[in-house]
This record gives sequence, C-alpha cells and structure tokens, in this order.
Amino acid sequence: MSKPVHGVTLAEIYAARRRIAGQAGRTPLVRSEALSRRFDAEILLKLETLQPTGAFKLRGVANMIAALLERNGREALAAGVTTASTGNHGRAVAYAASRLGVPAVICLSRRVPDNKVAAVEALGAEVRRVGDSQDEAFGEVERLVAESGMVAIPPFDDPLIAAGQGTIGVELMEDAPDLDHVLVGLSGGGLLGGIGAALKAIRPSLEVTGVSLSQGAAMHDSLLAGHPVAVEEVESLGDSLGGGIGLDNRCTFALVREVMDSHWRVSEQAIATAMVELLEHEKLLVEGAAAVGLAALNEHELDVRGRKVALVLSGNGVSLETLERARALAGR
Ligand SMILES: *Cc1c(COP(=O)(O)O)cnc(C)c1O
Repeated sequence: MSKPVHGVTLAEIYAARRRIAGQAGRTPLVRSEALSRRFDAEILLKLETLQPTGAFKLRGVANMIAALLERNGREALAAGVTTASTGNHGRAVAYAASRLGVPAVICLSRRVPDNKVAAVEALGAEVRRVGDSQDEAFGEVERLVAESGMVAIPPFDDPLIAAGQGTIGVELMEDAPDLDHVLVGLSGGGLLGGIGAALKAIRPSLEVTGVSLSQGAAMHDSLLAGHPVAVEEVESLGDSLGGGIGLDNRCTFALVREVMDSHWRVSEQAIATAMVELLEHEKLLVEGAAAVGLAALNEHELDVRGRKVALVLSGNGVSLETLERARALAGR
C-alpha cells in the first residue's frame, strides 16, 4: 500500500493517542439544545477549551515531544525546544516542556495579544518578541536551532503535529459514530488535516468543512492558487487563525487538499455574534477562532437539517478586551 505524501495515517493517529494519554485531555462532546433546535439538527460541541492549556494544540505538541523521546532518547531534547506561535501553540510547548523539565524559548510576533504572552511566561518559558509577522518569528526559531541546537516544534506543518490533532477525530468517532458533518477552524491546517485524516479513514461519507477568516486566510488563497502563497496578516477576533502556511509547506497543504470537502470564510461580525451566542446561551467562553464553525452555520445559512454535526470549539484564549470588542460588534 502506498503511503500518502503528507504522512498522516490512521495508524499514526492511534500511535499519537497512545503517546498523549495523560498529557493532553480527552475532551467531552456535548449536545447543544439551543443550537440543535435552531438548526433543526443535532449540534454537538467538542470542548477543546477544557485542555490544560485552553486549546487543542497540546495534542500535537505532546505527540511530537513524546515521539522524539521515543525515537532519539532524552539527549535529543537536552538543549530544549523552541517555536513560533500565535499563542496557543506556544503555551502548549511551554507546558509540555516544563513537564519534561526542558528549557523552552517561544518566539512571538508583536501582534500577539498580551494576555497570551503572559500565559506563556507563566508556564516557565522564555518569550522572545520579534517582528510584526509570524514569518519573522519563524526566522528567529531557525536561528536558535542553528546556533544553540534547540529542537523546533512547528505549530502545524509536521505529520506528528497533525496526527496529534487527529486524535480529536478518533474521539469524535467514539462518542458519535454516526456523525455526518464536522466544522473546523482552518489556518495552517494541522487541526483540520489531522481530524479529517482520522474521520475519512473511519467514516469516509462524513463531510469535513473548513472555516477560515475573510481576510488574511493563507490556506484559502493557497488552495485557490494551487500552491502555498503568502498573505498579509490582518487584525481579527480570530487571531489564532492568522499567519501563513509556509511557502515550503510539506505536509498540511497536501493533507487539507485531500481531506476537506467544503470551505467557508466568515466575517468579523459573524465571529463576534457566534462568540457572544456561545457565551450567552451555552455559557461557554471561546476565542474567535473557536467560534467560526457556528459563525459559518449562521452567516452562510448552511443546510444541516436532520444531520448530526460537530463544531470543534478549539480554544478559549480570549482577553476581556477582545470579548468586549466582540460584544460591541455583535451589538449585544
Ligand atoms: C491554531 C488554532 C486553530 C487552527 O489550527 P491550524 O492547525 O493552524 O489550522 C484553530 N483554533 C485555535 C484556538 C487555534 O489555536
């Protein structure tokens, strides 16, 4: 049997599940009464907001670090780990590294909100703020790897990272074996790619929908172009969905192209409304990037009648200021 070019197989996802047990949580899938009624469907919410670091990214990171330890031994991580991230990934690396007792340096662009920076520092990692884009932060990571022998933990573009995020797909299949449709926030594609790889392997008929920002959506523009392209970063309530996919993308671009069935973009207004609705009606605090599934259902009036639909609530990294901004924009 030929191995897919992206390297994310169901076997790798099950291996990831074994490795991350006890590191990242198995999260609940809960039914939303209000949303199920509104859409005349069964709407299920996957609560990645309950991860110890407040977002799903711990799955990929824990899998990669555990796999490196398995393959290369402890010396492989002696100089520590480093990464560039819009925040949630950095927190995950800081958390996992501190549990392993290895130093971590997290490189963040100056656009990353202060609350996310503080959270990384509180986890015991050193934060280095560089440039105005994620690409500049990536440059600093390359320098640290070359000069100090640190190991880079990429935010999405690695089969081990995507396989870690794919454990969400396995859990969805266990909790809702007859699931029809999943909506997932899409940026670099580790989350959607991993989940999609698991779901397509287990239940090929299941529809996988990606949801991106209306502006600065690198994966969207790259898929249209047929190859990875750079986009200008813009401010968004869904800041965790910003950033490029890497012009030399080697895994997630091919993976997303293979497993995604449909793709929508959502406005800031729709993200704001979805955030406020989840807080008001479900009592769930989510960041903008985690509200895009509901935003897509609302804004594009997707017909999900009679179907069983999961929304991946990917994270809760939101400040009170941003929440106020969302509330003002939603007019609530
Ligand atoms: C990183 C992130 C995403 C997008 O994940 P990708 O693997 O980059 O597509 C979505 N939601 C949250 C909260 C994130 O932190």
